[in-house]
Amino acid sequence: MIKAFDYSMAQQRAIKILERYKISTLPVNPADIAKAEGLMVKEIGKSEPGVSGMLLRSGDRFGIMYSTYLHNQGFENFSIAHELGHFYLDGHIDHVFKAGDIHISNAGSFSKDQYEQEADAFAASLLMPESMLKDILWKIGDGFSAIESLSRLCNTSLTASALRFTDLTENFMIVIISTNNIIDYCRISKKVWNLKDIFIPKHGQKIPPNTITEKLYNNSNNTESMNHLSGDVDISDWLETEKSYYATEEVIRLGKYERVLTVISK
Ligand SMILES: [Zn+2]
Repeated sequence: MIKAFDYSMAQQRAIKILERYKISTLPVNPADIAKAEGLMVKEIGKSEPGVSGMLLRSGDRFGIMYSTYLHNQGFENFSIAHELGHFYLDGHIDHVFKAGDIHISNAGSFSKDQYEQEADAFAASLLMPESMLKDILWKIGDGFSAIESLSRLCNTSLTASALRFTDLTENFMIVIISTNNIIDYCRISKKVWNLKDIFIPKHGQKIPPNTITEKLYNNSNNTESMNHLSGDVDISDWLETEKSYYATEEVIRLGKYERVLTVISK
C-alpha cells in the first residue's frame, strides 16, 4: 500500500503530545517526553555518519538511541524527536518494524520515504511548536540571524530551524541546503509561493551561477571568514520568475557537515 505523506497528521499529533505532557515553554526536551512515556533513551556508542538514531523494540517495550557524531545538541534533539515520531504516528510502528526490531533513521536527510518525512515533520512541530512561536517569530527579525535565534530558543539545529522558520514566517524567505555544489533541498515561504509563475530549484541541480553560494563554493580558501558570506542577489538567478527581484543572500558552511545553508530574504 502506498501511503500519502500526511504533514498535518504529524503536526496535530505533536500538538497532542505537548498538551498531554503540559509542555508550554521552550525549549522542548524530547528525551524527557520519551522517558515519561517509559522509553529508554541512550547515545549510540560508536556513531556513524548517515545514522541519526534508532527506534528499538523488545517485546512490548521500546527504546531510542541517538547519534552524537556531529557533537551538536540541536541535531541530537531532532534525532530523538524523529524516533518519537515513529513511536507516536499512526501506522509507523508496524511499518518500521516490518523487517525486525531495530529501525535505523537518518533524520533531516530529505528522505523520499513518506514515513521518514512524517517523522521529520513531527519532530519539527514538537520542538518548534507554532503555538509557542507565533508571538516570537515576528520579533526575531529575518534572514540568518532570525534562524540563529530560533535555533537557540528551541535548541534545534540550524538546518531544522531554517526549514521551520520558512514554513511559519509571513516574510519572504528561501532556504537552500546543498552539498558539493549540488542542491539537496529547497524550501520557500508562503510569500514566495505567491510570486507569479515560479519554478523552484530541484534536488540534484547545480548551484546557479552569479549567486553568493557559488562564490562560497568557488573559494577553496577554507578560512573562518569564507565560511559565512552575504550579498545582494537577483532572485531570478535562483527561481525562474518573470521579473527580477533583489534580495539578500546569506551562505553558511555548516560545521562538521559538508553541507552549505543558503538563506535568501528581503
Ligand atoms: Zn526514521
